[in-house]
Amino acid sequence: MYCKYCKKKNHNIDDCPDIICRICKLFGHPHWKCNNKQEINKLETNKLEANKLETNKLETNKLETNKLETNKLEANKLETNKLETNKLEINKLETNKLDNNFHTHLKKKELKRNEIIYNCNNIENLHDFKMFLDMQWGEI
Ligand SMILES: [Zn+2]
Ligand SMILES: [Zn+2]
Repeated sequence: MYCKYCKKKNHNIDDCPDIICRICKLFGHPHWKCNNKQEINKLETNKLEANKLETNKLETNKLETNKLETNKLEANKLETNKLETNKLEINKLETNKLDNNFHTHLKKKELKRNEIIYNCNNIENLHDFKMFLDMQWGEI
């Protein structure tokens, strides 16, 4: 008998107490005699499974984050649109106000003109008419 691993002559390598198994890392058997193979495979599989779940979880988080990011952007966009609309609404109201002021001004002018024409009927000579015009001119 001769052990190829530890060089002792009372056992062969299959029964060597000093050899370390490459599969399960335990002393006392070479890897081709390992009974823990299935255990190891199972552990490997569990590890892969765990990694897969971790990856899925990260993927889901990433998607969730993207979704939140998108919602946030959507909300900002809506907020901006709302503000833009309000701004346009205010501009429109401002314009209407200016239009109204202009129309009021025109209406006043028209009334004044009618008043002047009415008063003119009582004037008999050109001199009085000129004086009357000068007087009215300052009021328009
Ligand atoms: Zn040995
Ligand atoms: Zn082993």
